[in-house]
Amino acid sequence: MDVIIDEELCIGCGTCEEICPAVFHLNEDEGKAEVIDPEACEFVGCCEAAEENCPVEAISLKE
Ligand code: SF4
Repeated sequence: MDVIIDEELCIGCGTCEEICPAVFHLNEDEGKAEVIDPEACEFVGCCEAAEENCPVEAISLKE
């Protein structure tokens, strides 16, 4: 699965990292989330929850 973060939209709230820390990491220098391992969500199954809970809909998932 591809996990894409729209950095223009991301406000750095950290929700995705809290929900799915195997996939998302908040880069505190830039104040934006980044994807550290897009494949990890296939095993953990929490990427969908991160996508749904992102307040600015900055996360997209592609099969
Ligand atoms: S949940 Fe959305 S806005 Fe918050 S850090 Fe993650 S990508 Fe950015």
